[in-house]
Amino acid sequence: MRLVTFEAGGRRSVGAVREGRIVDLGDLFPSMLDLIAAGEEGLAAARRRVESAAGGHELAGVRLLAPIPEPRRNVFCVGWNYRAHFLEGKGKRMMDKEELPEFPAFFDKATTAVIGPDDPIPFDSRLSTQLDYEAELAVVIGRGGRSIREAAARVHIFGYTVANDVSWRDLQRRHGGQWLKGKSIDGSCPLGPWIVTADEIPDPQDLDIRLRVNGVLKQDSNTGYMIFPVDRLIAELSLGMTLLPGDILLTGTPEGVGFARTPAEFLRPGDEVEVEVEGVGTLRNRVVEAPLV
Ligand code: MG
Repeated sequence: MRLVTFEAGGRRSVGAVREGRIVDLGDLFPSMLDLIAAGEEGLAAARRRVESAAGGHELAGVRLLAPIPEPRRNVFCVGWNYRAHFLEGKGKRMMDKEELPEFPAFFDKATTAVIGPDDPIPFDSRLSTQLDYEAELAVVIGRGGRSIREAAARVHIFGYTVANDVSWRDLQRRHGGQWLKGKSIDGSCPLGPWIVTADEIPDPQDLDIRLRVNGVLKQDSNTGYMIFPVDRLIAELSLGMTLLPGDILLTGTPEGVGFARTPAEFLRPGDEVEVEVEGVGTLRNRVVEAPLV
């Protein structure tokens, strides 16, 4: 199923996309977090409704929000998870195998940074002009847990969505090496357009991932190039630390980001950024001048 949070007629609801229309699940689940918390039974109820319901909203006629518009805690993220991006970030072409990190680098983005597929990415030159993009596969946790074994990680995945880990590069680097600030500016976590349930993605390590700016291809990779695959990320993140239903994990970006280009390229008002993950969907946002300061 492709599950959405949407607004129609001034009302917010949860639904499932079927043949270009949205089957409203709002009477079953007040929010996506409630649907996720309902576990297998919740998914079964949603499937029954999708199979039996007639009509529904025209997908093109509603406003899509982020699938989880207000996560209950910060969005978890991974840095340096594609070898070629690790190299470009260090300004190198080659490296020794032992330079590769032994453990993933985790950081987070504030919940208030989350925006949906129909929202603009705000840009304010008084804040910074180094606005950058990062195409990422996002994992949504279903069943919570602590110290989840790598071999058991899949049963904890509710589904997948597409993310753009929008980054203000100068802000990212000037706060003591912690990335939270430059990664948490309002509007810097576009998510969507929907959550594809895990049953529809048999292998999350074999998905093409691409990013275009104004239609020009900037990132072009495959999730098979992750240094730490999704199962290992879940095992490492949950080690001694409880993951909750509805937690979101961004799994890192491949090479081709703006700051590492020669010359560096940053986003400007009017630019359209499109992130595509094979089998999951396409997330498109426009950069728009808006006051942030
Ligand atoms: Mg990232």
